Amino acid sequence: MNERVEILGVKVDAVTMAQAVERVTNLIAAGKPSIVATANAEMLLRATHDDELKTILNAANLVVPDGAGTVWAAHHLGKFMPERVAGFDLVQELMKIAPAHDFKFFLFGSAPGIADKAKSKAEMLYPGIKIVGTRNGYFTADDEPEIISQIKNSRTDVLLAALGVPKQEKWLFAHMNELKIPVSIGVGGTFDVMAGVVKRAPLWMQKARLEWLFRAMLQPSRAGRLLALPKFVLKVHKQKKALGCKL
Ligand code: UDP
Repeated sequence: MNERVEILGVKVDAVTMAQAVERVTNLIAAGKPSIVATANAEMLLRATHDDELKTILNAANLVVPDGAGTVWAAHHLGKFMPERVAGFDLVQELMKIAPAHDFKFFLFGSAPGIADKAKSKAEMLYPGIKIVGTRNGYFTADDEPEIISQIKNSRTDVLLAALGVPKQEKWLFAHMNELKIPVSIGVGGTFDVMAGVVKRAPLWMQKARLEWLFRAMLQPSRAGRLLALPKFVLKVHKQKKALGCKL
């Protein structure tokens, strides 16, 4: 088992992409309901003032370091964190190996029509993949029993939930035992990118750790969320200082 690095009170797994894929594969084989979270700086910052989210993340079976901020924080705290494991990339890697392993996926979330477009894209990119159901992410409490039975009846191995943070983590945690799906992953804007309605940053920007800036430029409504980054950096500095005092 890999190390877990505590960042602002949340334990993040120090895994490479290959190790994350192997862990998910093992969770599918084990068959017990499990949760995989993709922790970026914004999610970790939110967990500092959202105890429910923090509890869920610490109870998750796997928390991957999604985002340059998470990797930076671990390194700043003097810990080992091999690489960034973005949620979008993890989904692509799992889909790539899915036909050979016969893994089934259910795509739950995003605006009406988006999950269907993401399904078509996956079927084009990964021939033989089984996407056994889709459902948009806009619903009321009255719709939930029907959504739950749709997901259950699909007998999927992996449930991808794109409802945004922290809604997706809270929804999955609340329903995981009822759903009995081996692996549930909160995947944020993944279907939007797969469907082509939101662009991913060019590779050079991803490599320069500027994906957050690209997203803010593309969706100005998200610009306010950029404030989370300096707040996150300050809090990690504080954590480092507090750790230093204890030593
Ligand atoms: N979404 C949804 N239901 C909701 C709120 C949001 O399905 O009630 C979807 C939204 O359409 C988008 C995704 O959740 O596809 C959130 O994407 P975002 O990039 O904001 O993810 P985050 O940064 O929160 O992980």
